[in-house]
Amino acid sequence: MSGSANTPAELSALVRDYALDLGFDLVGIGPATGYGEENDLFGEWIDRGYAGEMKYLERGLPSRKEIGRILEGARSVVSCALNYNTDNARSTEVGGDDRGWISRYAWGDDYHDVMDEMLGELARYIKDVSPKDSAARTYVDTGPVLEKAHAGRSGVGWLGKNTCLINQRAGSWLFLGEVITDAELEFDAPAADRCGTCTRCIDACPTGAIVEPYVLDATKCVSYLTIELKGKIPRELREGVENNVFGCDVCQDVCPWNRDALFTPKENFLPRRGLLAPELSRLMEISAEDFSGVFRKSPVKRAKRRGFMRNVLVAVGNSGNKKYIEYVRALLGDEEPLVRAHAVWALWKLGGRECLSELSELLETETDPGVAEEIRLAVDGAARDAEDGFS
Ligand code: SF4
Ligand code: SF4
Repeated sequence: MSGSANTPAELSALVRDYALDLGFDLVGIGPATGYGEENDLFGEWIDRGYAGEMKYLERGLPSRKEIGRILEGARSVVSCALNYNTDNARSTEVGGDDRGWISRYAWGDDYHDVMDEMLGELARYIKDVSPKDSAARTYVDTGPVLEKAHAGRSGVGWLGKNTCLINQRAGSWLFLGEVITDAELEFDAPAADRCGTCTRCIDACPTGAIVEPYVLDATKCVSYLTIELKGKIPRELREGVENNVFGCDVCQDVCPWNRDALFTPKENFLPRRGLLAPELSRLMEISAEDFSGVFRKSPVKRAKRRGFMRNVLVAVGNSGNKKYIEYVRALLGDEEPLVRAHAVWALWKLGGRECLSELSELLETETDPGVAEEIRLAVDGAARDAEDGFS
């Protein structure tokens, strides 16, 4: 703990230095209020249905509009970013029909745990060095805070057309967190938008989820489909999921600002063994017991085993690799209807007309209506394949 401050500028300098000492890679300070335009845009985004099942975003709308609901008298927001980029392959470099892809942010430990502690320490420090009594609250992703808007206003980066926050030097592999405080601090200048005429992220998105520059329809986004969505992945979007089994990195992997993005020195974010482009055959063999062990303290546990296996089966169906048919068969009897439903789809995708009689037999014993519907659609598909002469 060092010194105390008499002016907003002195306090800000202490806070910035301390945040960097704690291990944050980027820090910026901006106003807590005055985000009318961003809030309106966010409200419109919700109204257009782009948040899908993420109802918690809608519930948090009033607090987003008035940060005073979170902390009375809030004046300043200290935005902190932690780089999680590691020197490993990108999703766009991994080919073949036997590998899945887990989003880079989920290769290591859950960042919420890592950041919570650091932000708590920073909040305590702000209270200690403020010339007057001050209050501070911390947020990492979970709270109703427009994190990217605050990070943009405080100069940490700009909101790219892919809707990720991008820093000119560090790229966009960044976890964000904030300390909201009633302390008076000196603000940094906002970051300028450097996307220019580039449209690489929009062009590369496999599902067309970036419906216009800076606007994401989350209901089409592979990250939403494989992490947030609890039920079945809509059939018309499954092929766009490609080999992604948890999240999607495409719109960041193609971004030129990530070409020379910095690497983190933090070991927490290095890929755990087997999570970098994992073998699909290995993933299909993960039992309910194994799942909690393999993904202990990992972001992947958010999908739960049934959501994760759903994703794996979609990736397997997309692989076109017939050697997986035997693995898929083993999941046709899974205790989770969600898993059975996607196993049916994967079987049809891999087996085509050859699986017509097998699928028809399944329909005789299946008791879950959602799975039965999936079987009927697969039977129709396999029958069409037979008529068309495709296998
Ligand atoms: Fe598109 Fe993937 Fe980016 Fe979502 S994460 S917008 S699906 S490229
Ligand atoms: Fe902006 Fe291009 Fe990066 Fe998309 S790929 S976020 S348009 S710089």
